[in-house]
Amino acid sequence: MTIEHLPLLILGAGPTGLGAALRLLELDRQSFRLIDTEPTAGGLAASFVDARGFTWDLGGHVQFSHYQAFDRYMELALGREGWITHQRESWIWMRERFVPYPFQYNLHRLPGPEMWQCVQGLMAAAEGSAEGRPADFEQWILKTFGQGIADIFLLPYNFKVWAYPPAMMNAHWVGERVAVPDLRTVLKSICLGEDNPSWGPNNTFRFPLRGGTGAIWSRLAARIPRQNKHFGDGIVALDAAHRQVTTASGARFGYDRLISTIPLDRLCQLISDPDLIEQTDRLKYSSVHVVGIGLRGQPPEALRTKCWMYFPEDDCPFYRVTVFSNYSPNNVPEPGATWSLMAEVSESSCKAVDEQSVVEDVIRGMRATRLIDEQDAIISRWHRRLHHGYPTPSVERDAILREVLPALEARDIYSRGRFGAWKYEVSNQDHSLMQGVEIAERLVNGREELTLLRPDLVNGRFNTWPYPEWKEAGRPTPTAA
Ligand SMILES: Cc1cc2nc3c(=O)[nH]c(=O)nc-3n(C[C@H](O)[C@H](O)[C@H](O)COP(=O)(O)OP(=O)(O)OC[C@H]3O[C@@H](n4cnc5c(N)ncnc54)[C@H](O)[C@@H]3O)c2cc1C
Repeated sequence: MTIEHLPLLILGAGPTGLGAALRLLELDRQSFRLIDTEPTAGGLAASFVDARGFTWDLGGHVQFSHYQAFDRYMELALGREGWITHQRESWIWMRERFVPYPFQYNLHRLPGPEMWQCVQGLMAAAEGSAEGRPADFEQWILKTFGQGIADIFLLPYNFKVWAYPPAMMNAHWVGERVAVPDLRTVLKSICLGEDNPSWGPNNTFRFPLRGGTGAIWSRLAARIPRQNKHFGDGIVALDAAHRQVTTASGARFGYDRLISTIPLDRLCQLISDPDLIEQTDRLKYSSVHVVGIGLRGQPPEALRTKCWMYFPEDDCPFYRVTVFSNYSPNNVPEPGATWSLMAEVSESSCKAVDEQSVVEDVIRGMRATRLIDEQDAIISRWHRRLHHGYPTPSVERDAILREVLPALEARDIYSRGRFGAWKYEVSNQDHSLMQGVEIAERLVNGREELTLLRPDLVNGRFNTWPYPEWKEAGRPTPTAA
C-alpha cells in the first residue's frame, strides 16, 4: 500500500485542529491533512438534532472570548447576523430557592443562620489570608471564602462538577475563574437585601441563531478544502519512530510533524510507549452525561429569561442545567410551542453514574428542583456520554505535563487543545481554537505559544492580534486573522 507523506498532519477536527488548519491555510501552507474519526467537524463543540427536531450541544456552550483573533474567526463562521445576543443570566438552586450567581454577593437570599455562617467564614478568611499558599483546591476555597461558603456551596458544588474531591485538585488553575469576595459588597448586599447578579448591560454572550454551537465549527470546516480533510476514519496506530499513522480503514500517512488534538492519554496509548502510558494514565478526567429533555408548551415564568443554573445539592444528579430553548428559538422544533432543558451529570472513578437510569434520574431531579412538574409533557429524551468531558486540574497534573509534552515534542508531536494539552484553564472554545492557531504560528514562524505556556497572561486580558509579545520579539507581524 502507498503511504502518502505530508509535512504536517493534524489529528482531530475540533476547535483546536480547525484553528491549526485555518491558520496554516492563511500562512499559505496547503500541504497538510486534517484527520477525524467522526464524519463531521466540531468535536466536543459539535451539535446534534434529535429525532423530534430538538437541537442539542454537548453541554451548555457559551462563548467567553479572550481574543480579537477568535472573534474574527467567529465572524468568518457566521457573519455578523448569524447570532443572538443574550444577558448571561446564571443562578444557583439551593434551599428550595434560586440565588443569583455569584453566590458570595447574594447571601441575603439564604436563611438567616446560614447567612451568618457564611459571613463568619468570610471574616475569618479575611483575617487569616496572609498565611502561606494553599496546597490544593479545597485549601484555596477555605482560605479564600472561609468555612461557611465552603460547606454550604463550594465544596459540594465542586465535587458535583468535577467528580473528584477538591482536595485532589491543584489550586493554580483557578486564576480568574472564581471571584475573590469583596467584604464590603457582601455586607452591602446583606444589609440592603439587594441582589448582586453577575449579569448587567456589559455581560452578554452570543449564540448561533441556527444549528447550535456546532454550526460555528461546521462552517469553519467548510472553509478548508476537501483535499485537506480526511473525516470519518480515525487513527488507530501511530508509529512515532517512522512518523506514520494508520487509520481504521487502513489508510496510511507519513508526516514530518504531527499536531495532535486527541486526548493525550489516548495519543500515548497509540504510540505504545510504556513510560508515556504510565505517566498519562495518572492524569485525571471526568466523563459527562448530557441529557436533553424536549417539552411541549412554554417554559414556566421562573425560567423565561434564565440561561443556566447550578445545582450543588443532592436532590438531583446534575450540576448544571441550561434552558437551551432560551439560547435560540431554532433549538426547538416548534418555537413558542416547545421548549428544552439540557442537564449535565459528571462521572469519574470517585463518582459513579448508572448509565441505564441516568435519563430518568435527571427527569426525577428536574421535578424535585421544580424545573418541570408532573403535568409537563416530555416529548423528547436525548442522552450522550462524553468519555473525556473535563480535563481535571489534579494535584499531579502539572508535573506530568512538564515531562510528557516535551518528550512528545522531541519526536515532533505537538499535543494541543482541551484534552491534548490537558489544561482546563485554557480549554474553552476560544482557547482551543487559539492553541491551534498558535501552534501553526510556532511551526511556521517560530512564535511563542502564549495560550499553552502563559494561561494567566491570556486569561487576564483581552488579547489583541497580533500579540504584543510577538511584536516585541521583532519578527514581522502576522497578516490575516
Ligand atoms: C460539558 C461541556 C461544556 C462545555 N462548555 C463550554 C462553554 O460553555 N464554552 C466554551 O467555550 N467551551 C465549552 N466547552 C469546551 C469546548 O467543547 C472545547 O473547548 C472544545 O471542543 C475543545 O476543542 P478541541 O479541538 O481541543 O477538542 P475536541 O473538541 O475534543 O476535538 C478533538 C477531536 O479529535 C477527534 N479524535 C479523537 N480521537 C481520534 C482519533 N483516534 N483519530 C482522529 N480523530 C480523533 C474527535 O472526534 C474530535 O473531533 C465545554 C465542553 C464540555 C465537555
